[in-house]
Amino acid sequence: MSAFETNLRPDLQADLQKNLDLRRSQGLYRSRQIVQGPQSVRVNIDGESLLSFCSNDYLGLAGDDRLVKAWQQGADKFGIGAGASHLVTGHHQAHHELELALAEFMGTESTLLFSTGYMANMAIASSLLGRHDSIFEDKMNHASLIDGARQTRARLHRYPHNDTKKLATELANCPDQKKLIMTDGVFSMDGDQADVETLTDLATKASAYLLVDDAHGIGVVGEQGRGSLAAAGLNINANTLVMATLGKAFGVFGAFVAGSETMIETLIQFGRSYIYTTALPPAIATTLQVALKIVQAEQWRRDKLQDHIARFRQGAAQLGLALGPSSTPIQPLMFGSAASAVAASQKLRESGLLVTAIRPPTVPEGGARLRITFSADHEPQHIDQLLATLESVCRTKQAG
Ligand SMILES: *Cc1c(COP(=O)(O)O)cnc(C)c1O
Repeated sequence: MSAFETNLRPDLQADLQKNLDLRRSQGLYRSRQIVQGPQSVRVNIDGESLLSFCSNDYLGLAGDDRLVKAWQQGADKFGIGAGASHLVTGHHQAHHELELALAEFMGTESTLLFSTGYMANMAIASSLLGRHDSIFEDKMNHASLIDGARQTRARLHRYPHNDTKKLATELANCPDQKKLIMTDGVFSMDGDQADVETLTDLATKASAYLLVDDAHGIGVVGEQGRGSLAAAGLNINANTLVMATLGKAFGVFGAFVAGSETMIETLIQFGRSYIYTTALPPAIATTLQVALKIVQAEQWRRDKLQDHIARFRQGAAQLGLALGPSSTPIQPLMFGSAASAVAASQKLRESGLLVTAIRPPTVPEGGARLRITFSADHEPQHIDQLLATLESVCRTKQAG
């Protein structure tokens, strides 16, 4: 035996292996691909250049030179690490300025930066309510919203996707004092949108809190990319929080929550995933200040995305492909079985196109799909190339 024990106890080893083997036999095994070079619509994987339709870099900012420069300048000024959590000495001027700029952008009193959207969602529900309360979630909500609810040990009610009638009934029948409705603004795997207007009304009538997770809405929908509420002509009410990520359309990293000062102070005091973690590097905050300006100013990026979406949907309709009802850059192409979605993804890859298959448990059983996403960095001929390849790949493969 070597200086340190390298082998697990045999029964533990066998147990882990059994679970891995099961995953593989179900066609659900996930593996990571190693990307070389910067994120863009062309990615290099294993020395192969692929045209990608699977990033969340909707506005094409992840490789933007101005952001690279801002990051370098921020690092020159502030160094790399924040050094501590926000409540110790990690809260820098750069974070403060970004929070003020984001509050103005969102039209709210306050915003709060988090290191990731996942962590923001872990903080929200548990800061607002506890085990004797109720949480209402759309069945297609992102995993982080489900995990955030579990953290509270509150009663979890999951309503059918976008079924606000069912939700209204459940809210009316719920005797609990405190209620929280949580929804994706733009659903991450389907690309369709929540009816935020009705949800806002329901929350107000039921005196419930409302959390809109706009990870895929921010930067993409609404005037200047202000997100799902803005797109519906709504403001952020006193009972409402919006969570949005900064690693998707903003092209950088991080997340924020927007709401009233009271709600945001509540997160600062009680949000464990806010309190007990190191602050984002301040250079990321300075980079995000530049990203925010670009997101607001460069409407042409959103316009170009809309052109891509229209071009793709029109082409897909001509081919008879089964798309979901989405008008966002997330366009799911439904296959049903995990194996057929994986096979299609593999065929696309052989043609130089990268489109990931999304399988259970990320989507419901029987809901395996190709999740196609567009970026402002795509050109119209990229969309045409995708359609042409899908035509040959899907002619026989796709169910429905
Ligand atoms: C990506 C995503 C998150 C998590 O955000 P990160 O900043 O990547 O941790 C939360 N909610 C939704 C809907 C997402 O798609």
